[in-house]
Amino acid sequence: MLSFTDARLKVEQVVRALVAGYTAQAENIEITAALGRVLAQEVAADRDYPPFDRSTRDGFAVRAADLAKLPATLKLIGEIKAGDTWTGTVGAGQCVQIMTGAAAPAGADAVVMIEHTRPSQAEVTFERVVQRDQNVVLRGSEAQKGQKLLSAGQRLGYAELALSAQVGAACVEVFRRPRVALLSTGDEVVAIDAQPGPFQIRNSNCVSLAAQAELAGAEPVALGNAPDRVEDLRRMIQQGLEADALVLSGGVSMGKYDLVETVLRELGTEFHFDAVAIRPGRPAVFGVCRGKPVFGLPGNPVSTMVTFELLVVPAIDLLGGTAPRPLALFRAKLAKAVKQKAALTHFLPARVTWEVGEAVVEELPWQGSGDIVALAQANCFLVVRESRLELAAGEWCEVLPRRGML
Ligand code: AMP
Ligand code: MG
Repeated sequence: MLSFTDARLKVEQVVRALVAGYTAQAENIEITAALGRVLAQEVAADRDYPPFDRSTRDGFAVRAADLAKLPATLKLIGEIKAGDTWTGTVGAGQCVQIMTGAAAPAGADAVVMIEHTRPSQAEVTFERVVQRDQNVVLRGSEAQKGQKLLSAGQRLGYAELALSAQVGAACVEVFRRPRVALLSTGDEVVAIDAQPGPFQIRNSNCVSLAAQAELAGAEPVALGNAPDRVEDLRRMIQQGLEADALVLSGGVSMGKYDLVETVLRELGTEFHFDAVAIRPGRPAVFGVCRGKPVFGLPGNPVSTMVTFELLVVPAIDLLGGTAPRPLALFRAKLAKAVKQKAALTHFLPARVTWEVGEAVVEELPWQGSGDIVALAQANCFLVVRESRLELAAGEWCEVLPRRGML
């Protein structure tokens, strides 16, 4: 059985091959609406950055050589606010009051913080030396006009959006978000606004899957629920194959009515795996049907969530025109011992807190892969590897954040 890392690699390899030689459609949108989107163009500097020698402090612009012998008293010849055009020149023995963000004047080669000076009416006394260029960011030192700052394939976070704004790219070309069709299955599953019968359950997977798809940067296409009947499944799966990828939940275990694999096979799916060595989530299926990646995730809600995060997110990245994000595992100290029996890698609902800067993680009590009550108290999954099923309190262990919660 594949490890989750190998299963992920398999997904990446297969989807990379599917998208090779095919460029996702792009659209032009305002950057204020582009958070999380993937650039389809490059963004270049429209001028030098900074565009002028910029003071980084409130203080006095001086010639550093004038402060070689201390204390030094210089004649104050003017004032420059941010945005001002000051056309004079600072001569020997002179200084100019300057504000943060203002252009350093000709003649001066450093700025002294106001805190380190003793200003009077027409003079300023200095008691510390200053280095050349101190407290000044030189024109073009961040970027030169025409320099590429962002590349196609980069995801736009707040810093990338601010950079686009800075260089005047108010609208950008971004790739269309991949459309991910979501189809739950199960005779017992009813719509979320329905009153379930005594042995029925509401379709929570259609909600979590759509939320996870959005968080990952996809456009969810909710197809609803298919009953466990071959004809309905076939019809709804075919509908799902019109999207860029199809994600199913339920119907992939060993039960008599677990028909998803049967129907996918009949539709000509090439399967790449139908089990992963994880709990929850072991029966996860991945294949390609009519050129589209298809995921059959187990229906237990926490299994669905874990397998989406581990297996579907990298496919969304690749379909969206960007490189797959790494799995953001980090290390934390275990608050209490954990012990698992099954020879699988376990993803356990847990809470991480930071105590004196050190991450400490504690497994939460839960009833297994159907227990969203417990998961809603968790901000991460504690990862217990198949190779080390018993961990003592105080040991370092691995943690997978719940996307959007840490
Ligand atoms: P399955 O993978 O179809 O065997 O389902 C496993 C468990 O998950 C069963 O207890 C189902 O009732 C439950 N389940 C399946 N689909 C959903 C869904 N869409 N929403 C909530 N629970 C589900
Ligand atoms: Mg089922």
